[in-house]
Amino acid sequence: MTQPILSTNNMPFCPGCGHGVAIKNLAKALEEAGYSPLDVIVVSDIGCAGLVDPILATHTIHGLHGRAPALALGVSLGLSSPGKKVVAIQGDGGATIGLQHLLEAARRNVDITLIVLNNLLYGMTGGQMSGLSTVEFKAGKQITDDTPPFDIVKLVHEAGAAYSSRITSPGDFKAQFLEALRAPGFSLVEVACLCPSHGVKKLKDLSIVALGDLKLAHEREPGRAAFRPTEPLFAQDKPERPSYRSNIKERLGLLIAGSAGGGIQSAARLIANAGILSGLHVTMKGEYPITVGTGFSAAEVILSRDKIHYTGLEHPDVVVAATEDGLVKARSRIHAHTILVLDSKLKEEAFPNAVYGDFQKEAGKQGAALSAAARWLVQEGVLQVEALLEVARKHKHGEAMVEVLEKCKSVEV
Ligand code: SF4
Repeated sequence: MTQPILSTNNMPFCPGCGHGVAIKNLAKALEEAGYSPLDVIVVSDIGCAGLVDPILATHTIHGLHGRAPALALGVSLGLSSPGKKVVAIQGDGGATIGLQHLLEAARRNVDITLIVLNNLLYGMTGGQMSGLSTVEFKAGKQITDDTPPFDIVKLVHEAGAAYSSRITSPGDFKAQFLEALRAPGFSLVEVACLCPSHGVKKLKDLSIVALGDLKLAHEREPGRAAFRPTEPLFAQDKPERPSYRSNIKERLGLLIAGSAGGGIQSAARLIANAGILSGLHVTMKGEYPITVGTGFSAAEVILSRDKIHYTGLEHPDVVVAATEDGLVKARSRIHAHTILVLDSKLKEEAFPNAVYGDFQKEAGKQGAALSAAARWLVQEGVLQVEALLEVARKHKHGEAMVEVLEKCKSVEV
């Protein structure tokens, strides 16, 4: 017998809320489909539907409003182990805020099951209309037109989902969830839920929900699409085999800082990729102002033999600054043990651990940061120049980069 998907039977919703019934049935369906809690990755959304995280024994990720399908898509494409299931849960508000996301996931038939808990309103913020609110809601309250709601089941069906259906009657709807979980690709189940806290006031006739007599339900047919297989992201990319050496033993945090247009981001990406070719774990993070053509540009690269669980870099081990802009940007993060690799024009600064080179003079404005970082990394044995060259040759500005890197073979900082 599989372990329970729910960690408690106490639902976090208001008494009588339809979300609780839906989640309990979803948990039963996952168990019946043979999933253990840690086989399941639940991506939840903002709103009452997003209160599920703490009651699940599964992996959980809490997304931004309307973005659960986009996050779930990323998780699904990135999964490399078989037998896992990605389930996204959102309300009708989230589903229509982020409609494009779920249509894209359906269009690509990505292996996700999306549960839309549709109580016809925004519950958490007081009962405002959503894109799935029915004519009854509108006629009873805020606006007088009779614009129909989106038919989300039909939309994803037409976009290319493997399965989509709607549950309108209260009761045991585990069977329909099971069908969705077993569908080969993107599946969506829209569940009509009652929101006792706001639906009573906002809906003209609450019995249409309680009796499962929603207009959107009986006028429209659930969709079924043919099987279209999807490949995990990593299946398309052949993993790089380490083919170069690195002498690093501990995690090394590098901050490369300079001016806009100084090739900072390209240099950091090149170093990160060369790190991967050298069998290292790597992260890279860029930072620059909205005005990309002026001001500073900075990038952090972490190189490590071990897995990098924390990608923050408060105090870099090495700061590379080829211009004044870069040094100003990096200054607050320089501490007593930071090694500085600076252009010789910045020599008036009295830093105890600084090494200097004529990087701007030799490599020009665009190549100075790469020249400075590459020379230090090669000289210290962190990366082989051949690893950097291999990446540079594949880059769109590779010719200029190769020229800079060739000079690193002989000159020392
Ligand atoms: S506000 Fe409505 S949807 Fe939200 S938990 Fe309460 S009853 Fe459920």
